[in-house]
Amino acid sequence: MDRKIIHVDLDAFFCSVEELLDPSLIGLPFAVGGNTNGRGVVASASYAARQFGVHSAMPSNQALLLCPQLKFTHRSHHLYSEYSDKVMSILRDYTPLFQQMSVDEAYLDVSDLQQSAESIAKQIQARIDREIKLSTSMGVATNKLVAKIANDYGKSRVHTGKAPHVITVIEPGKEAEFLAPLDIQCMLGIGPKTAEKMRSRGIQTIGDLATIDEKALTPFFGNYALELKEKAMGISHSRVHSEHDSQKSCSNETTFHSDSTDINFLLEVLRSQAEKVGYRLRRDGLAGSVVQIKLRYSDFTTLTRQKALGILTNLDEEIYTAAAELFLNNLIHGRPVRLIGVGVSNLDSPHRQMALWDDAFQEKAKLAVAIDSLKDRYGNKIIQRASQLKKDKEFRHNGVDD
Ligand SMILES: [Mg+2]
Repeated sequence: MDRKIIHVDLDAFFCSVEELLDPSLIGLPFAVGGNTNGRGVVASASYAARQFGVHSAMPSNQALLLCPQLKFTHRSHHLYSEYSDKVMSILRDYTPLFQQMSVDEAYLDVSDLQQSAESIAKQIQARIDREIKLSTSMGVATNKLVAKIANDYGKSRVHTGKAPHVITVIEPGKEAEFLAPLDIQCMLGIGPKTAEKMRSRGIQTIGDLATIDEKALTPFFGNYALELKEKAMGISHSRVHSEHDSQKSCSNETTFHSDSTDINFLLEVLRSQAEKVGYRLRRDGLAGSVVQIKLRYSDFTTLTRQKALGILTNLDEEIYTAAAELFLNNLIHGRPVRLIGVGVSNLDSPHRQMALWDDAFQEKAKLAVAIDSLKDRYGNKIIQRASQLKKDKEFRHNGVDD
C-alpha cells in the first residue's frame, strides 16, 4: 500500500509575514535580515527581490549591487513564530502524523485518510490562504524524500515575481522518472562541494546516480552507497516522526558543589557531557540536528541557547564543537557558574545524507562505533581522552554528575 505524504512549505515566510503586517511592502523588492549598510546576510528575500537575483544567505552588500532599491526590514522572531504556530496548528488538524521541520516547513502523513493526498493538500492550502493569509506550496508523493524534492522543484519553476503557491504531485510509481533528469544537487543532503566531486566523476543528474554501479560508490560512501542509490531511484523509508518523537531530546547536565569561573574546566565538563549524549544517541539509533546548552550562574540566573546544525549528528566531536561555541558566545566572564548542561534535540534516525565523500566523517563514525563497543564491554570509564583524565581528578572535587 502506497503511503501518502505531503510536504508543506510557506512561500518566503518572513517576507510574507512582513507584507501581511505592512501591505505597503507588497510587490516591492525587500529583504528580511541584513541592512542598507551592506552588513549581514539576507534571511529571506521577497519574490520581487528574487527577480533581481537576490536570495537568502546572500551578503547584503551583494544584494544591494543587484538591486540598489532593495529595502530591508526586520521584526522580532517572536512575531514570526506566532504565525508559524498558527499554520502548524492548522496542519495538526488533519493528522497526528505531523512533523515540523522548521519554522515554515512540515511533513504530513495522510495515508490513513480516505481522500487523495492531492485534494487534502488543496484543502489545506486554501484554508491557510483564508485563515492566515499566507501563501504555501506543497509537494505530494509516496515518501518524504520525493515530496520535498517535488515541492522544491515546483517552486523553483515559478518566476512570476509573486509567491509560487503551487502543489506538485508525483504519482505513485513515477518517482524515479521524476527524479532522473534533475541536477544531482537537487538530491537532499548533496551540497555544492559534494555535487562538484560527483560531477567530476561523471555523475550529473540524479538519474546518473541511480544507474551507476553501486561498487563505484562504495569507496566513497561505504554502507551509505546502497541507500543513496535507492534514494536516487525515489525509494525512501524515512517515516514522518510525530511531534512526540521529534520533541524528544537527549541531554546531560552537571551541578557543581562549588561554583566555577574556570573556562578550561567548564569546557572539559562540556566535552564529557557531549560524549555521554553522543554515546546515548548512538546506542538508541538516533541523531539530532539541534544542539543546546544550559548555563546557570551562582545567583540562579539560567539561560539556554541553541544552535541548529542543518545536519543530523550523533558524533561527540560535533556536539562538543557546537556546545563550546554556544558556551563561549554566551558566557559572562568572571561570573561563577553553578550548572552547565548539553543537549541534542530534533531527533531522527541518523540516515545522514550529510557530507558524503566526507572521509573524515566516515573515519569519525567508525571510531565512535569502536569506542562504544569498548564502553559496552568494559564500562563508560575505560575509554577516556588524555585531556579528560586530568579533568576527572578535578571533577571528583568539584562536581556531581547528573
Ligand atoms: Mg519556505
